Amino acid sequence: MADMQDEGEMTTGNMFQRPKGVHDILPDTHEYFTFIKKVVRHRARQSGFRRISTPIFEFTDVFARAVGADTDIVSKEMYTFQDRKGRSLTLKPEGTAGTVRAYIQHNMHTLAQPVELYYIEPHFRYDRPQKGRFRQFWQYGFEVIGESDPALDAQLIYLAQTITEDLGVAGLFKLQINSIGCMNEKCRPHFMSDLKNFYFGKERSLCADCKTRVETNPLRLLDCKLEDCRILAELAPKMKDYLCEECREFHKQLLDLLKELGVEYVENSSLVRGLDYYTKTVFEFWDRALGAQNAICGGGRYDGLIELMGGAPTPAVGFAAGIERIVDNMKREKIRVPKKDDLHVFVAQLGYEAKKKCLTLMTKLREAGIKTIGALGKDSIKAQLRHADRFQVPYTIIIGITEVRDKTAIIRDMKRGSQEIVAYGKVVEEMKKMLGKERLDTYSPGEVLY
Ligand SMILES: [Zn+2]
Ligand SMILES: [Zn+2]
Repeated sequence: MADMQDEGEMTTGNMFQRPKGVHDILPDTHEYFTFIKKVVRHRARQSGFRRISTPIFEFTDVFARAVGADTDIVSKEMYTFQDRKGRSLTLKPEGTAGTVRAYIQHNMHTLAQPVELYYIEPHFRYDRPQKGRFRQFWQYGFEVIGESDPALDAQLIYLAQTITEDLGVAGLFKLQINSIGCMNEKCRPHFMSDLKNFYFGKERSLCADCKTRVETNPLRLLDCKLEDCRILAELAPKMKDYLCEECREFHKQLLDLLKELGVEYVENSSLVRGLDYYTKTVFEFWDRALGAQNAICGGGRYDGLIELMGGAPTPAVGFAAGIERIVDNMKREKIRVPKKDDLHVFVAQLGYEAKKKCLTLMTKLREAGIKTIGALGKDSIKAQLRHADRFQVPYTIIIGITEVRDKTAIIRDMKRGSQEIVAYGKVVEEMKKMLGKERLDTYSPGEVLY
């Protein structure tokens, strides 16, 4: 079912088609969405994050202010409309602006700091539809508001990494990290003015977008994807040579803590992120093969944003990840989503004596929390194994005449195709070991299976 492919705006006779750039989440794909949400909730709870949902639309100014009027998002990609009273509203293009608006509006600075929030929400951007990129897309995101310390950034990056590990796609991505400094005159402003000077007189070699960026948003010149702009960006001044004392120390500590946590990273001086509000840390998880084109997750520190939005100066750090892209990667990697009604073991038997043994064995397995089925009504082993195949069980236990005589059972690993002979009295214990204790304990509705 091609629910996440875009067929564009075809019209077939009188049949309605969905608008370009949006997709239906059909049942097979929903299993992935559900699993991802479970993993996110599980990891969030584990580290004390609580869930927030902000409205699908906000006053347009919320995004214009927070994201920055000169960004692609605000200038080209927002779904903005007037309501019946003529107020300008916008469907949320990202999650941080609304979360920060809510933090300020609900006086969350009076709570214990930092306030740790997460969301799983749909977002909207009038973007050019392409593989894994939609005009309505889901993101999960985490925000830590109220404290500034490299340890918070490190912890958050570690969390982002852990979730992708849980989802089985971590191996495809590599963390890119950079510091874009702060608003201290000697720090980013100094860099920006040198950057502008560098581009002065070179405008002719830039793409149309970058020509205007020289004036409006010079930082973005560094992450233009077009060849000519990239050649110039290589030669441009580097932020890391301009970091003020505080920013340099902050970044050094962050990298040190990431090493401590065993998180692999690449220092990337062209990484700036598309949004104006970032300070110091910026990071993205890039596809190892395709680079930035297929990033699944990104974020950074935004120490100036809460003040910019009308709150008291409050440091913060956060990230967001694109669920459709993750699903895409999971499907491509043939990662099967565990389901609570998945079965663990199929029990097959040959002969009446074996059937008797199997009947008690099945009861014992079930009592031990192992989801077990058999086909006691079918006599031929072939018919039984065909049956087992249909349920895609990871293990099959086989008891035949020989096994009854030897008081043993065969445990067959269906994926590997290997098997071993185990004493009949040890089967339940062995099965528990093979399935993993954790797997059985967490194998209940609403919980995540690893
Ligand atoms: Zn600085
Ligand atoms: Zn360009």
